[in-house]
Amino acid sequence: MSKPQRFATRATHAGREDFSALCVHAPPLDLSTTYPLQDLASGTESFDALVAGAATASNPIYARLCNPTVARTERALAELEETEACVAYASGMAALTAVLLARATHGRHMLAVRPLYGTSDHLLASGLLGIEVEFVEPGEIEAKKRAATSLIIIETPANPTLDLVDIAAVVRAAGDVPVLVDSTFATPVLQLPARLGARFVLHSATKFLAGHGDVIAGVVCCNEADAAALRTVRAATGALLHPLAAYLLHRGLPTLELRVRQAEANAKTLAERLAQHPAIKAVHYPGLGTVKNAALVQSQMQGPGSLMAFELHGGFEAASQVMRKVGLITPAVSLGSVDSLIQHPAGLTHRVVDEKVQQQHGITAGLLRLSVGIEHVDDLWQDLAAALG
Ligand SMILES: *Cc1c(COP(=O)(O)O)cnc(C)c1O
Repeated sequence: MSKPQRFATRATHAGREDFSALCVHAPPLDLSTTYPLQDLASGTESFDALVAGAATASNPIYARLCNPTVARTERALAELEETEACVAYASGMAALTAVLLARATHGRHMLAVRPLYGTSDHLLASGLLGIEVEFVEPGEIEAKKRAATSLIIIETPANPTLDLVDIAAVVRAAGDVPVLVDSTFATPVLQLPARLGARFVLHSATKFLAGHGDVIAGVVCCNEADAAALRTVRAATGALLHPLAAYLLHRGLPTLELRVRQAEANAKTLAERLAQHPAIKAVHYPGLGTVKNAALVQSQMQGPGSLMAFELHGGFEAASQVMRKVGLITPAVSLGSVDSLIQHPAGLTHRVVDEKVQQQHGITAGLLRLSVGIEHVDDLWQDLAAALG
Protein backbone atom coordinates (compact mmCIF):
# COMPACT_ATOMS: atom_id res chain seq x y z
CA MET A 1 0.00 0.00 0.00
CA SER A 2 1.39 3.45 -0.87
CA LYS A 3 1.93 5.87 1.99
CA PRO A 4 -1.15 8.03 2.66
CA GLN A 5 -0.33 11.69 2.05
CA ARG A 6 -3.06 13.70 3.70
CA PHE A 7 -2.63 14.87 7.27
CA ALA A 8 -5.89 13.48 8.71
CA THR A 9 -5.08 10.03 7.36
CA ARG A 10 -1.48 10.06 8.54
CA ALA A 11 -2.50 11.34 11.99
CA THR A 12 -5.01 8.50 12.33
CA HIS A 13 -2.56 5.77 11.33
CA ALA A 14 0.91 7.04 12.33
CA GLY A 15 2.72 4.75 14.75
CA ARG A 16 0.19 1.98 14.06
CA GLU A 17 1.77 0.41 10.97
CA ASP A 18 2.54 -2.92 12.70
CA PHE A 19 -0.91 -3.47 14.22
CA SER A 20 -1.98 -6.17 11.73
CA ALA A 21 1.24 -8.08 12.26
CA LEU A 22 0.79 -7.85 16.05
CA CYS A 23 -2.94 -8.64 15.76
CA VAL A 24 -3.93 -5.63 17.91
CA HIS A 25 -6.21 -2.65 17.28
CA ALA A 26 -4.89 -0.40 20.08
CA PRO A 27 -1.23 0.27 20.89
CA PRO A 28 0.32 -2.20 23.35
CA LEU A 29 1.08 -0.42 26.63
CA ASP A 30 4.43 -1.62 27.97
CA LEU A 31 4.94 -0.61 31.61
CA SER A 32 8.12 -2.64 32.18
CA THR A 33 10.97 -0.92 33.95
CA THR A 34 13.45 -3.64 33.05
CA TYR A 35 13.70 -6.34 30.37
CA PRO A 36 14.87 -9.98 30.60
CA LEU A 37 18.15 -10.57 28.75
CA GLN A 38 18.62 -13.46 26.31
CA ASP A 39 22.36 -13.52 26.99
CA LEU A 40 24.95 -11.09 28.30
CA ALA A 41 26.72 -10.45 24.98
CA SER A 42 23.60 -9.25 23.15
CA GLY A 43 22.54 -7.33 26.25
CA THR A 44 25.83 -5.46 26.26
CA GLU A 45 25.43 -4.69 22.57
CA SER A 46 21.93 -3.25 23.10
CA PHE A 47 23.09 -1.28 26.12
CA ASP A 48 25.94 0.35 24.17
CA ALA A 49 23.65 1.22 21.26
CA LEU A 50 21.01 2.85 23.48
CA VAL A 51 23.49 4.82 25.58
CA ALA A 52 24.95 6.17 22.31
CA GLY A 53 21.48 7.38 21.34
CA ALA A 54 19.91 4.64 19.19
CA ALA A 55 16.10 4.85 19.04
CA THR A 56 15.66 1.12 19.66
CA ALA A 57 17.75 -2.01 20.18
CA SER A 58 17.01 -5.75 20.13
CA ASN A 59 16.57 -5.50 23.92
CA PRO A 60 15.29 -2.24 25.52
CA ILE A 61 17.38 -3.11 28.63
CA TYR A 62 15.88 -0.52 31.02
CA ALA A 63 13.00 1.93 30.64
CA ARG A 64 15.22 5.00 31.07
CA LEU A 65 17.06 3.90 27.91
CA CYS A 66 14.11 2.82 25.79
CA ASN A 67 10.40 2.08 25.99
CA PRO A 68 8.48 0.60 23.05
CA THR A 69 5.24 2.49 23.79
CA VAL A 70 7.08 5.83 23.97
CA ALA A 71 9.09 4.99 20.83
CA ARG A 72 5.84 4.28 18.96
CA THR A 73 4.43 7.71 19.87
CA GLU A 74 7.72 9.32 18.84
CA ARG A 75 7.57 7.66 15.41
CA ALA A 76 4.04 8.99 14.95
CA LEU A 77 5.02 12.56 15.82
CA ALA A 78 8.13 12.49 13.61
CA GLU A 79 5.87 11.49 10.75
CA LEU A 80 3.45 14.37 11.42
CA GLU A 81 6.21 16.99 11.76
CA GLU A 82 7.97 15.56 8.67
CA THR A 83 11.26 14.97 10.50
CA GLU A 84 13.44 11.86 10.69
CA ALA A 85 12.97 11.44 14.41
CA CYS A 86 11.25 12.64 17.57
CA VAL A 87 12.35 12.39 21.21
CA ALA A 88 9.75 12.60 23.97
CA TYR A 89 10.24 13.99 27.47
CA ALA A 90 8.39 14.32 30.75
CA SER A 91 7.27 17.88 29.88
CA GLY A 92 7.77 20.68 27.40
CA MET A 93 10.30 22.27 29.76
CA ALA A 94 12.24 18.98 30.03
CA ALA A 95 12.30 18.87 26.21
CA LEU A 96 13.65 22.42 25.96
CA THR A 97 16.23 21.72 28.68
CA ALA A 98 17.45 18.65 26.79
CA VAL A 99 17.98 20.64 23.58
CA LEU A 100 19.84 23.36 25.51
CA LEU A 101 22.10 20.77 27.17
CA ALA A 102 22.75 18.92 23.91
CA ARG A 103 23.60 22.14 22.03
CA ALA A 104 25.68 23.60 24.89
CA THR A 105 28.34 20.98 24.13
CA HIS A 106 28.80 22.85 20.80
CA GLY A 107 29.02 26.34 22.33
CA ARG A 108 27.68 28.11 25.38
CA HIS A 109 26.14 31.14 23.68
CA MET A 110 22.59 31.19 22.35
CA LEU A 111 20.18 33.74 20.89
CA ALA A 112 16.46 33.93 21.60
CA VAL A 113 13.61 36.05 20.29
CA ARG A 114 10.97 37.31 22.73
CA PRO A 115 8.18 36.93 23.65
CA LEU A 116 8.37 33.32 24.78
CA TYR A 117 6.39 31.09 27.09
CA GLY A 118 7.02 32.48 30.60
CA THR A 119 8.99 29.54 31.96
CA SER A 120 11.05 29.24 28.75
CA ASP A 121 11.96 32.91 29.14
CA HIS A 122 12.81 32.29 32.79
CA LEU A 123 14.97 29.23 32.04
CA LEU A 124 16.89 31.11 29.34
CA ALA A 125 17.25 34.39 31.24
CA SER A 126 18.16 32.83 34.61
CA GLY A 127 21.51 31.38 33.55
CA LEU A 128 20.47 28.25 35.44
CA LEU A 129 22.19 25.94 32.94
CA GLY A 130 25.36 28.03 32.66
CA ILE A 131 24.48 29.08 29.11
CA GLU A 132 24.67 32.73 28.03
CA VAL A 133 21.46 33.67 26.27
CA GLU A 134 21.09 37.00 24.46
CA PHE A 135 17.61 38.19 23.62
CA VAL A 136 17.45 39.77 20.17
CA GLU A 137 15.03 40.96 17.53
CA PRO A 138 14.92 38.69 14.45
CA GLY A 139 16.71 41.42 12.45
CA GLU A 140 19.71 41.34 14.82
CA ILE A 141 20.48 37.63 14.56
CA GLU A 142 23.10 37.90 11.84
CA ALA A 143 25.03 40.62 13.69
CA LYS A 144 24.78 39.00 17.13
CA LYS A 145 25.81 35.44 16.38
CA ARG A 146 29.32 34.38 17.32
CA ALA A 147 31.55 31.33 16.86
CA ALA A 148 30.22 29.99 20.19
CA THR A 149 26.53 30.45 19.23
CA SER A 150 25.05 26.97 19.19
CA LEU A 151 21.29 27.56 19.02
CA ILE A 152 18.68 30.17 18.08
CA ILE A 153 15.35 29.88 19.86
CA ILE A 154 12.06 31.28 18.59
CA GLU A 155 8.40 30.69 19.38
CA THR A 156 5.68 31.33 16.80
CA PRO A 157 2.85 32.06 17.36
CA ALA A 158 4.31 33.43 20.58
CA ASN A 159 2.87 33.09 24.04
CA PRO A 160 0.87 35.12 25.10
CA THR A 161 0.60 37.90 22.48
CA LEU A 162 0.32 35.69 19.38
CA ASP A 163 3.13 37.62 17.66
CA LEU A 164 4.42 35.75 14.63
CA VAL A 165 8.08 35.25 13.68
CA ASP A 166 9.24 34.59 10.11
CA ILE A 167 10.78 31.12 10.44
CA ALA A 168 12.41 31.05 6.99
CA ALA A 169 13.97 34.50 7.52
CA VAL A 170 15.39 33.44 10.92
CA VAL A 171 16.79 30.25 9.35
CA ARG A 172 18.46 32.33 6.63
CA ALA A 173 19.97 34.75 9.16
CA ALA A 174 21.12 31.84 11.34
CA GLY A 175 23.28 30.31 8.61
CA ASP A 176 25.00 27.27 10.14
CA VAL A 177 23.49 27.79 13.59
CA PRO A 178 20.54 25.44 14.23
CA VAL A 179 17.15 27.06 14.83
CA LEU A 180 14.65 25.72 17.36
CA VAL A 181 10.99 26.62 16.84
CA ASP A 182 8.56 26.19 19.71
CA SER A 183 5.53 25.32 17.60
CA THR A 184 3.20 24.46 20.49
CA PHE A 185 0.51 27.01 19.52
CA ALA A 186 0.47 25.94 15.87
CA THR A 187 0.63 22.12 15.95
CA PRO A 188 1.65 20.32 12.72
CA VAL A 189 -1.88 20.97 11.43
CA LEU A 190 -1.13 24.69 11.03
CA GLN A 191 2.65 24.89 10.63
CA LEU A 192 5.59 22.66 9.66
CA PRO A 193 8.79 24.44 10.77
CA ALA A 194 11.11 21.65 9.55
CA ARG A 195 9.96 22.33 5.98
CA LEU A 196 11.16 25.92 6.46
CA GLY A 197 14.58 24.80 7.67
CA ALA A 198 14.15 24.67 11.45
CA ARG A 199 16.39 21.93 12.88
CA PHE A 200 14.42 21.42 16.10
CA VAL A 201 10.62 21.57 16.35
CA LEU A 202 9.56 21.65 19.98
CA HIS A 203 6.10 21.08 21.44
CA SER A 204 4.65 21.18 24.85
CA ALA A 205 2.62 18.07 23.97
CA THR A 206 0.67 18.82 27.13
CA LYS A 207 -1.31 21.23 24.97
CA PHE A 208 -2.94 20.44 21.61
CA LEU A 209 -1.09 17.22 20.78
CA ALA A 210 -2.40 15.34 23.81
CA GLY A 211 -5.35 17.72 23.89
CA HIS A 212 -7.50 16.52 26.80
CA GLY A 213 -5.92 18.12 29.84
CA ASP A 214 -4.64 14.85 31.32
CA VAL A 215 -1.06 14.52 30.07
CA ILE A 216 2.13 16.49 30.69
CA ALA A 217 4.62 15.80 27.90
CA GLY A 218 7.17 17.46 25.65
CA VAL A 219 8.60 16.42 22.29
CA VAL A 220 11.44 17.50 20.03
CA CYS A 221 11.21 16.59 16.33
CA CYS A 222 14.55 16.71 14.50
CA ASN A 223 17.00 14.77 12.35
CA GLU A 224 18.33 11.39 13.48
CA ALA A 225 21.82 12.65 14.46
CA ASP A 226 20.36 15.37 16.70
CA ALA A 227 17.85 12.86 18.09
CA ALA A 228 20.71 10.54 19.12
CA ALA A 229 22.28 13.38 21.14
CA LEU A 230 18.88 14.15 22.69
CA ARG A 231 18.29 10.51 23.67
CA THR A 232 21.71 10.43 25.31
CA VAL A 233 20.75 13.50 27.37
CA ARG A 234 17.44 11.87 28.28
CA ALA A 235 19.09 8.62 29.38
CA ALA A 236 21.62 10.55 31.45
CA THR A 237 19.24 13.06 33.06
CA GLY A 238 16.12 10.88 33.32
CA ALA A 239 13.42 13.33 32.16
CA LEU A 240 11.38 10.44 30.73
CA LEU A 241 7.89 10.42 29.33
CA HIS A 242 5.92 7.76 31.18
CA PRO A 243 4.52 5.10 28.80
CA LEU A 244 0.94 5.72 29.97
CA ALA A 245 1.35 9.42 29.11
CA ALA A 246 2.84 8.40 25.74
CA TYR A 247 -0.17 6.12 25.15
CA LEU A 248 -2.61 8.96 25.88
CA LEU A 249 -0.60 11.37 23.71
CA HIS A 250 -0.72 8.88 20.84
CA ARG A 251 -4.47 8.49 21.36
CA GLY A 252 -4.92 12.23 20.91
CA LEU A 253 -3.36 12.30 17.45
CA PRO A 254 -6.19 10.88 15.28
CA THR A 255 -8.48 13.74 16.42
CA LEU A 256 -5.79 16.44 16.31
CA GLU A 257 -6.90 18.00 13.04
CA LEU A 258 -10.61 17.84 13.96
CA ARG A 259 -9.93 19.47 17.32
CA VAL A 260 -7.63 22.16 15.94
CA ARG A 261 -10.02 23.07 13.12
CA GLN A 262 -13.16 23.17 15.26
CA ALA A 263 -11.43 25.25 17.93
CA GLU A 264 -10.11 27.55 15.21
CA ALA A 265 -13.57 28.04 13.69
CA ASN A 266 -14.89 28.93 17.16
CA ALA A 267 -11.94 31.28 17.77
CA LYS A 268 -12.54 33.18 14.53
CA THR A 269 -16.13 33.91 15.56
CA LEU A 270 -15.23 34.82 19.14
CA ALA A 271 -12.38 37.11 18.05
CA GLU A 272 -14.73 39.01 15.72
CA ARG A 273 -17.36 39.39 18.41
CA LEU A 274 -14.82 40.40 21.06
CA ALA A 275 -13.38 43.06 18.72
CA GLN A 276 -16.88 44.68 18.59
CA HIS A 277 -17.43 44.57 22.35
CA PRO A 278 -17.28 47.94 24.18
CA ALA A 279 -15.34 46.50 27.17
CA ILE A 280 -12.48 45.42 24.91
CA LYS A 281 -9.60 47.69 23.95
CA ALA A 282 -7.77 45.27 21.62
CA VAL A 283 -7.93 41.66 20.46
CA HIS A 284 -4.65 39.99 19.51
CA TYR A 285 -5.52 37.23 17.06
CA PRO A 286 -3.61 36.28 13.91
CA GLY A 287 -6.92 35.78 12.08
CA LEU A 288 -7.85 39.45 12.63
CA GLY A 289 -4.47 40.67 11.44
CA THR A 290 -3.94 42.31 14.84
CA VAL A 291 -0.61 40.70 15.80
CA LYS A 292 2.99 41.43 14.82
CA ASN A 293 3.81 40.02 11.34
CA ALA A 294 0.19 38.91 10.83
CA ALA A 295 0.79 38.38 7.09
CA LEU A 296 2.76 35.24 7.97
CA VAL A 297 -0.56 33.51 8.66
CA GLN A 298 -0.94 33.28 4.89
CA SER A 299 2.65 32.34 4.06
CA GLN A 300 3.93 30.06 6.82
CA MET A 301 0.72 28.82 8.46
CA GLN A 302 -2.38 26.94 7.37
CA GLY A 303 -4.68 28.95 9.61
CA PRO A 304 -4.73 31.33 12.59
CA GLY A 305 -5.43 28.72 15.30
CA SER A 306 -7.50 28.96 18.46
CA LEU A 307 -5.44 31.08 20.86
CA MET A 308 -6.03 34.78 21.34
CA ALA A 309 -5.30 37.48 23.87
CA PHE A 310 -7.47 40.48 24.59
CA GLU A 311 -6.95 43.68 26.47
CA LEU A 312 -9.74 45.13 28.62
CA HIS A 313 -10.38 48.85 29.04
CA GLY A 314 -10.88 48.25 32.77
CA GLY A 315 -7.35 46.90 33.38
CA PHE A 316 -6.63 44.43 36.17
CA GLU A 317 -10.00 44.83 37.92
CA ALA A 318 -11.93 44.05 34.74
CA ALA A 319 -9.63 41.12 33.91
CA SER A 320 -10.02 39.57 37.33
CA GLN A 321 -13.79 40.05 37.10
CA VAL A 322 -13.91 38.11 33.81
CA MET A 323 -11.82 35.33 35.36
CA ARG A 324 -14.25 35.20 38.30
CA LYS A 325 -17.46 35.38 36.27
CA VAL A 326 -16.87 32.82 33.54
CA GLY A 327 -18.80 29.62 34.16
CA LEU A 328 -18.42 27.38 31.11
CA ILE A 329 -14.92 28.60 30.33
CA THR A 330 -12.45 27.41 32.97
CA PRO A 331 -10.25 30.04 34.62
CA ALA A 332 -6.97 28.12 34.45
CA VAL A 333 -3.52 28.17 32.91
CA SER A 334 -2.58 25.80 30.06
CA LEU A 335 -4.11 25.70 26.61
CA GLY A 336 -4.96 23.48 23.66
CA SER A 337 -7.47 21.35 25.53
CA VAL A 338 -10.87 20.30 24.15
CA ASP A 339 -12.43 22.71 26.66
CA SER A 340 -11.90 26.48 26.74
CA LEU A 341 -9.47 27.98 29.24
CA ILE A 342 -8.87 31.61 30.18
CA GLN A 343 -5.93 33.00 32.14
CA HIS A 344 -4.13 36.21 33.10
CA PRO A 345 -0.52 36.13 31.77
CA ALA A 346 0.86 38.98 33.92
CA GLY A 347 -0.54 37.37 37.08
CA LEU A 348 0.18 33.73 36.21
CA THR A 349 2.17 32.23 33.30
CA HIS A 350 4.37 35.28 32.68
CA ARG A 351 4.89 36.31 36.30
CA VAL A 352 8.41 34.86 36.13
CA VAL A 353 9.29 37.22 33.26
CA ASP A 354 11.12 40.49 34.00
CA GLU A 355 8.56 43.31 34.47
CA LYS A 356 10.21 45.56 31.87
CA VAL A 357 10.10 42.74 29.34
CA GLN A 358 6.42 42.19 30.15
CA GLN A 359 5.72 45.86 29.42
CA GLN A 360 7.75 45.83 26.20
CA HIS A 361 5.69 42.95 24.87
CA GLY A 362 2.29 44.19 25.94
CA ILE A 363 1.82 41.73 28.81
CA THR A 364 -0.30 44.21 30.75
CA ALA A 365 -2.57 44.07 33.81
CA GLY A 366 -5.66 44.10 31.57
CA LEU A 367 -4.58 41.30 29.24
CA LEU A 368 -6.30 37.91 29.24
CA ARG A 369 -5.36 34.90 27.13
CA LEU A 370 -8.13 32.68 25.85
CA SER A 371 -7.61 29.14 24.61
CA VAL A 372 -10.76 28.33 22.69
CA GLY A 373 -12.03 24.75 22.87
CA ILE A 374 -14.43 22.68 20.79
CA GLU A 375 -17.65 23.54 22.65
CA HIS A 376 -20.51 25.14 20.67
CA VAL A 377 -19.45 28.68 19.83
CA ASP A 378 -22.77 30.25 20.89
CA ASP A 379 -22.45 28.78 24.37
CA LEU A 380 -18.89 30.12 24.59
CA TRP A 381 -20.00 33.59 23.48
CA GLN A 382 -22.89 33.63 25.94
CA ASP A 383 -20.48 32.81 28.77
CA LEU A 384 -17.90 35.40 27.69
CA ALA A 385 -20.44 38.15 27.04
CA ALA A 386 -22.00 37.59 30.48
CA ALA A 387 -18.57 37.71 32.13
CA LEU A 388 -17.68 40.91 30.28
CA GLY A 389 -20.88 42.49 31.65
C1 LIG B 1 3.21 25.07 28.11
C2 LIG B 1 4.27 25.53 27.21
C3 LIG B 1 5.60 25.13 27.39
C4 LIG B 1 6.04 24.26 28.56
O1 LIG B 1 5.50 22.98 28.47
P1 LIG B 1 5.18 22.05 29.75
O2 LIG B 1 4.64 20.82 29.12
O3 LIG B 1 4.21 22.79 30.61
O4 LIG B 1 6.49 21.84 30.45
C5 LIG B 1 6.55 25.55 26.47
N1 LIG B 1 6.21 26.34 25.43
C6 LIG B 1 4.94 26.75 25.23
C7 LIG B 1 4.63 27.62 24.05
C8 LIG B 1 3.94 26.37 26.11
O5 LIG B 1 2.68 26.80 25.91
